[in-house]
Amino acid sequence: MKRARTRPPVAIIGGGMGGLSAAIHLRLRGHEVVLYEANPKVGGRANLLERDGFRFDTGPSLLNYPWVFRDLFAQAGRRMEDEIELLPVDPSLVFVWPDGVRFALSSRLDRLVAECAQLDRDVEPRLFAFLQDAEAKYRIAFDKLVVRNEDNPLRWFGALSWREMRRLSIHHSLDRELERFFRSARIRQALGAYAMYLGGSPYALPGFYSILAYGELAYGLWLPRGGIYALVAALARLAEDLGVEFRLGCPVRRIRTDGRRALGVETSSGERESFPLIVSNVDVPTTDEQLLQRKARRLRMTPAVVTFYWGVRGAVRGLGHHTIFFPDDVRAAYDDLFVHHRIPAGLPFYVSVPSATDPSLAPRGATAIFVLVPVPLLSEMHGADWASIAGHLRARVLARLRREGVELDETEIDVEETWTPVEWQQRFGLYDGSAFGAAHTLRQIGPFRAPNYSREIKGLYYVGASTTPGTGLPMVALGGRLVADRIEEQL
Ligand SMILES: Cc1cc2nc3c(=O)[nH]c(=O)nc-3n(C[C@H](O)[C@H](O)[C@H](O)COP(=O)(O)OP(=O)(O)OC[C@H]3O[C@@H](n4cnc5c(N)ncnc54)[C@H](O)[C@@H]3O)c2cc1C
Repeated sequence: MKRARTRPPVAIIGGGMGGLSAAIHLRLRGHEVVLYEANPKVGGRANLLERDGFRFDTGPSLLNYPWVFRDLFAQAGRRMEDEIELLPVDPSLVFVWPDGVRFALSSRLDRLVAECAQLDRDVEPRLFAFLQDAEAKYRIAFDKLVVRNEDNPLRWFGALSWREMRRLSIHHSLDRELERFFRSARIRQALGAYAMYLGGSPYALPGFYSILAYGELAYGLWLPRGGIYALVAALARLAEDLGVEFRLGCPVRRIRTDGRRALGVETSSGERESFPLIVSNVDVPTTDEQLLQRKARRLRMTPAVVTFYWGVRGAVRGLGHHTIFFPDDVRAAYDDLFVHHRIPAGLPFYVSVPSATDPSLAPRGATAIFVLVPVPLLSEMHGADWASIAGHLRARVLARLRREGVELDETEIDVEETWTPVEWQQRFGLYDGSAFGAAHTLRQIGPFRAPNYSREIKGLYYVGASTTPGTGLPMVALGGRLVADRIEEQL
């Protein structure tokens, strides 16, 4: 592997997936890189909780677009397959409604057709038409839009032909887009479920986001052996091998500037180090408020979450690897969350059982369970008693699981941890407790999203969920390359 000539040193603040990817790309281009991480371990939201033989991934549990990580390792002359083993998860996601309807997504076309046909008669040609259309959108997105640093809306859209523009379906909602192909509201709810992570409902976000369901169906969902953290650890090892210097347990208190250019960082122990280039992997509005001591820019954020980590003695029957439990009235749940800013009366939630795919994540015969419940942001529930809310949510989740026939005896939960939005905010600096960063509304994507560089302070850059291209492990990993490109363009 060949490295470029020596370039100015860079401080990266935060060792989330975006920070790690940026560190690798910048190191490969010849920069000295020092990465400051507030916590004892890198990974950020994609962290690891180890308790009595259980290994819980704290945040991401659905790994998609493995090609992004394969490319990242390949940039450094490594083969992903030599670094981590990816186990396929199929069915990738199962959706359950209170009236007993179940619907499973699979990358195996024969299974997918059979599942869809249960809910929508003669669906096959429409399903194929959907896959073809969403694939075209996906190609446009990844070939022409997502993987480019472009701040000018005219030039951004200018890369597209008129036909491609129309193909994107930005003029109607995701649900409306799905309705073009599927008569079943259940199928539309399932394929639109990703909208929550993007900070909106499928009835409000643009049709363009059918690419998410497509990406998952086409490329599958995966679990690295050893959990999502095995991927984080492999990338941290790679960064270390390349010579990235890690300062763990070392929070940065302030980004030093003279008002016009970046000068360096000051750590919480008062140490000052000079750097002409700084990349903040800390959530963008948190960087504004805490590290630059200025008013946070106004961004619409994705919701917060309450997460439960349960280490259960013995097997838990009735639960696959990934399940989304929907309420009767799915639309009302989105309205509660995004319009009325309250905990949904009919509670949607997501459960992952990674030990179903990789038994090494729990002691022999035991089960590791992760539950995610979307909730409003901290500012939307001002003064809320989150510990008590989490207690109520726990009871509601367990009651629903019981109603669905899941054999989970509460007394068998030996290991338990709960993170409310307050914990998420305090541990990783997530602005307003938002789990996934800035929302992906039309006004906050592409050239309209917070850019990955500061317009006021020369030498200050951003990487991570709230900047370009967006949230999710693959996106922030791509963001690491984009910020390295940006630095190169501006040097
Ligand atoms: C519960 C949950 C579930 C999710 N599920 C999925 C999923 O299934 N699939 C998926 O792809 N994505 C998922 N996501 C989204 C995904 O986790 C994020 O998009 C991604 O991990 C964000 O990475 P990032 O680069 O923005 O860094 P972050 O993870 O935000 O890391 C930022 C780092 O900065 C550090 N830091 C903060 N302040 C300072 C400071 N002052 N000094 C030094 N360091 C500091 C933090 O400790 C942290 O390590 C999920 C997120 C959550 C919260």
